[in-house]
Amino acid sequence: MLVDTVCDIFPNCWRFCCRIFSPFTLDKARVYIFPINQLEQLLACVHEAFPLEASGLLLQREHKRFTVLSVVGTSSEGNTPLSFRIRSAAIDKIAESLRDSDTKICGCFHSHVLGAARPSKRDTAATKEAGDLWFIYSVRFQALKLYGWNGRAFQKEHFRIVQNQ
Ligand SMILES: [Zn+2]
Repeated sequence: MLVDTVCDIFPNCWRFCCRIFSPFTLDKARVYIFPINQLEQLLACVHEAFPLEASGLLLQREHKRFTVLSVVGTSSEGNTPLSFRIRSAAIDKIAESLRDSDTKICGCFHSHVLGAARPSKRDTAATKEAGDLWFIYSVRFQALKLYGWNGRAFQKEHFRIVQNQ
């Protein structure tokens, strides 16, 4: 799934082999990066929840012109092989733990057991705010993709997997 291509910004940067970055990507105001230990954490949640969908919150921290993403898993109790639910009590608890920190909640992640790593109809219909980010991991296709909700539709976002910061 991963190849060890060195990128010009971070030494020892990892990227998904299916994604080819053009130099223009670097001119974007925002570059999302995902440390490899966070990827491991996300995958651990996916394995633990299987055969149900895994779920959790996505957090972000600004670092220079990069947005560093991280994850916090939430209970898969109440999730099914085709749906997930994150309780507001869990969100409140995580929000409270982030008080006075420069890390904030920016969206969520969940897994698709059989489907591709793209938003389902249920995902599109779910409650979200413009600007929310969603990571979707497909167990079947072993693919992780990032989407941003612009208020009307999900749009695919680029991200890079990097060595731990
Ligand atoms: Zn979904």
